[in-house]
Amino acid sequence: MTTTMIAKAKALISTVTPDELDRAHEVYDFQKQENFYQVASSRDLFDENGDRVMYEVRYDRVHKCFTCSCPAGAEAFIHCRNGFCRHVVIALAAADEIKAANVERARWEAEIAEQTTRACRLEINGQVADKETYDRIMNAPVKVDRTAKARQIPAFSLLR
Ligand SMILES: [Zn+2]
Repeated sequence: MTTTMIAKAKALISTVTPDELDRAHEVYDFQKQENFYQVASSRDLFDENGDRVMYEVRYDRVHKCFTCSCPAGAEAFIHCRNGFCRHVVIALAAADEIKAANVERARWEAEIAEQTTRACRLEINGQVADKETYDRIMNAPVKVDRTAKARQIPAFSLLR
């Protein structure tokens, strides 16, 4: 699979349905030290042990192409119109979703970490203020009216 084929597969990510996305998950291969994707067969096939048939989609760094353990992948996708099977597209979509979720989680964790270092708890309408609002309010310049006269403190005595 050439770079254009990867681009072709990526272009199809938007066609992946939520149901298809649910069929894919990321697996880490400790032996090869790489991630790959397991994608459940779309026809809900089960093997002789009653386990759902899962296909493995991997990226072959040496040949710069995707491989899949499905029947189409076994024959190097020669009968596939696009040059790859649907599992490859689903795996790419799953990878994208995981990436997006990681970005969101990192943002959320940074927000929580930032909130725990705050000197004060600031809530606006019951919600903890976001960083921007907190910084704006807590770092607002203090306005001092230098023309104001010192307040007269009435003298008082404990003795009446
Ligand atoms: Zn496949």
